[in-house]
Amino acid sequence: MYLHKVYVSLGSNLGDRVKYLQQAVLAMHDIKETHVTALSRIYETDPVGYTDQPLFLNACAALITSLSPIQVLDALLNIEHKLGRVRTFRNGPRTIDLDLLLYDDYVIDLRPSLTVPHPRMHERAFVLLPLCDVSTDLEHPTFHKPIAKLRASVSEKEGIRCYRTHLLNAYEPTGN
Ligand code: ADP
Ligand code: MG
Repeated sequence: MYLHKVYVSLGSNLGDRVKYLQQAVLAMHDIKETHVTALSRIYETDPVGYTDQPLFLNACAALITSLSPIQVLDALLNIEHKLGRVRTFRNGPRTIDLDLLLYDDYVIDLRPSLTVPHPRMHERAFVLLPLCDVSTDLEHPTFHKPIAKLRASVSEKEGIRCYRTHLLNAYEPTGN
């Protein structure tokens, strides 16, 4: 059984935001043939795009899985649905958003259902800061740049601060 390395970004800005992130992590651990191997710190971030909405909490999880990219995406959308996500509009408020950032070094274009690497990850501080918590030596598969270098160049860092050092008490954040 071949195990793939997957990175998922988590976001929530409605209700008990920490609880939604935690429930999403537990649900990801329950996906068949999948384990959560590392978790980032939790960051609080100003909304990007549509700004008239509550502050977001963002985090990142590293997973290993033998599922295909489409199977992982289906499982993530299923968890969003179970945790009460109602789709309103792009960048709108949500109980939980789970985005598939990276799947090994695969480049996948199945628009609109699945694009990997996630098409906006390289410009978002709220993705790159937590991603660097869980892995310091990743490279972006299409820009061929270290994720740490992309993180250093994003400009919106003033809109993001550490909110909690541990997503679940049982996990230690790794990296810096
Ligand atoms: P956003 O995360 O950009 O606010 P949504 O969470 O509403 O948008 O996602 C809308 C659709 O984006 C999903 O139904 C999914 O099929 C598609 N999608 C394409 N690529 C990805 C990806 N890498 N991760 C998650 N969803 C993706
Ligand atoms: Mg999404």
